[in-house]
Amino acid sequence: MKMNTLGSYKEPAPIKDKLNPFDSMMSRFNIAAELLELEPDVYNVLKSPTKQVTVSLPITMDDGSMQVFEGYRVVHSDILGPSKGGIRFDMGVNIDEVKALAAWMTWKCAVVDIPYGGAKGGIKCDPRSMSRGEVERLTRAYTQHMVDVFGPEKDIPAPDMGTGPEVMAWLLDEYSKMKGKTSSAVVTGKPLVMGGSLGRTEATGRGVMVSALNALNKMGLKPTEVSCAIQGFGNVGSWAAKLLMEQGVKVCAISDISGGYWNKDGIDIDAAIAYRDTHNRSLEGFDGAEKITNDELLTADVDILVPAAMEDVITVKNAAQIKAKLIVEGANGPTSAEADSIIKEKGILVVPDILANAGGVTVSYFEWVQNRLGYKWDLDRVNRRSERILTEGFDHVYKTMEKYNVSMRIAAYIVAIEKVSQTFHYRGGF
Ligand code: NAD
Repeated sequence: MKMNTLGSYKEPAPIKDKLNPFDSMMSRFNIAAELLELEPDVYNVLKSPTKQVTVSLPITMDDGSMQVFEGYRVVHSDILGPSKGGIRFDMGVNIDEVKALAAWMTWKCAVVDIPYGGAKGGIKCDPRSMSRGEVERLTRAYTQHMVDVFGPEKDIPAPDMGTGPEVMAWLLDEYSKMKGKTSSAVVTGKPLVMGGSLGRTEATGRGVMVSALNALNKMGLKPTEVSCAIQGFGNVGSWAAKLLMEQGVKVCAISDISGGYWNKDGIDIDAAIAYRDTHNRSLEGFDGAEKITNDELLTADVDILVPAAMEDVITVKNAAQIKAKLIVEGANGPTSAEADSIIKEKGILVVPDILANAGGVTVSYFEWVQNRLGYKWDLDRVNRRSERILTEGFDHVYKTMEKYNVSMRIAAYIVAIEKVSQTFHYRGGF
């Protein structure tokens, strides 16, 4: 095995056809760590999560039967501050995925200089097939088991796939009851009336728009000169589409689970949102565009591609066919590690997930700050401060990319790992 600055353990894993999410994260982490000549001690601290909790949750279902659910919370790092990360309710939840998502949260917060560590949680369940009461009991049971993990200065959950403001409200309530006092700052993404922040709903899509504009600026292009395709028309994709359209970008393709929709003259995004909202959250049957497949959308003839649906959609199978000059990653992990080098060779600029979708955690941080101040900011203040944080993060990563002659993704990891490792040096171990 090749020895290098990080010692014998540092040989990057061979790039396999499909890495599990944690290995995929580690393959990028390893490249950045080697370029930084990260000391083996620090490497060992950062490569594994600081805490992993698995719980078994027996829930009485509406029909009187009992079902046992498995839940997880992984705190990857609390070096920069209390750990932060969403809770996912999905049948695909597994410990490897939660570990990867927790580590991505560490890097995401570090890259935009937010004083949080990274965490993620999840329960393997299908919330769509459960009643509201069953989801509430499951959330409360999970909170009871995690009461010593969570805390406004310890570990702060937020919504993710399959969870939303209502689940956060139950979590806040259960946690507050157990602690004997209302503890608003223990979760973010709460309903507005319970201390949620203005601007949180659209924050991730707005961050995608800000990142795209920052990248276009570096590429010497104006928003009014470019076209765009967006995969996923949920929270992130539809807000990114709307806000990019408002900036003058021609959004030629959108998609959701029902397929892709193409209009070379640009899709009326307000009409598409109105259609989705009146058709069971689906674009199926939308007639403002012709139907294409989700695969065709990814290789469509546009300037900007925004994957905003799920992980691993840009892979070795389609990377060579991508025509966009700019990819802005709204989703977490949409590009497989194996596809990175093909994209770099093609000269496509990629604003990576840990930077491009950091608008959500930025406004979550503002929510936590407002809860702790006992004060509410107006929307203008939220948007201005978020834009400033994301633009500073972008500029830092862009300069690092030029300095190390690497992709923006590896540069983002370098920025993040450098910040976390420097802080670790000050804090020290045992
Ligand atoms: P969402 O559930 O609101 O929307 C997901 C969208 O993707 C839906 O339109 C769905 O139909 C579509 N979709 C699902 N499977 C698809 C497929 N196979 N092909 C095409 N489209 C498909 O989710 P969201 O909150 O918009 O999150 C999207 C991504 O962004 C996820 O990777 C999430 O982790 C990431 N993200 C979200 C936030 C946030 O604040 N919501 C923050 C950071 C990252």
